Amino acid sequence: MTHTVASLVWFAGVVGWYIIRYPFERKANKVGVRKSLFDRRESSVLAIALLGLFVMPCLYVVTGFPASLDRPFIPAIAWLGLVPLGAALWLFRRSHVDLGRNWSISLELREQHALVKTGVYRLIRHPMYSSFFLLGVAQMLLLSNWLPDASGLLGAGAFYAFRIRREEAMMLECFGDDYRAYMTETKQLIPWLI
Ligand code: SAH
Repeated sequence: MTHTVASLVWFAGVVGWYIIRYPFERKANKVGVRKSLFDRRESSVLAIALLGLFVMPCLYVVTGFPASLDRPFIPAIAWLGLVPLGAALWLFRRSHVDLGRNWSISLELREQHALVKTGVYRLIRHPMYSSFFLLGVAQMLLLSNWLPDASGLLGAGAFYAFRIRREEAMMLECFGDDYRAYMTETKQLIPWLI
């Protein structure tokens, strides 16, 4: 694997990510929204994720900036990046399939919102955010520069730091004991661990 091929693999992963999301987004957006918590904080989370997982790595891949933060490119490490990249895309697709019409880009409850506890949601409550972390790790292994390395983890970390607690509070308010019981049976991001 060369430096250029690793960059192309990263880019193909991001394109794949969008191709996976597009049909689910179209379908879910036809369903009405009953409650929305979209605000400045939510738009900041989305902006940080977009910057960290797309804009910053794109800047590096296209321009090589900032060259002063380059690390040595090690082909074996770049090859290793294929594992979290494949896992991220698989988990991202699975969570869209399982969440179906209940998906939203932000914190929203749809008309007749159902609590999903099946598929990948049987083990973790936030598989989509786990897939962002996996994407961040893949970005680290594929791109040998400290800027995209750090920005990917910050982009994924924004969901963990600023959204998960609010999302769970919203779900608790809507589903009460059902969600409370679900919380005791599952972890947030990594099965049986975190
Ligand atoms: N946090 C989840 C979902 C991300 S999409 C994940 O990482 O997989 C965000 C929307 O999903 C939220 O607005 C919420 O309404 C909805 N949601 C989150 N968990 C859910 C669940 N278990 N069942 C149904 N909807 C859920």
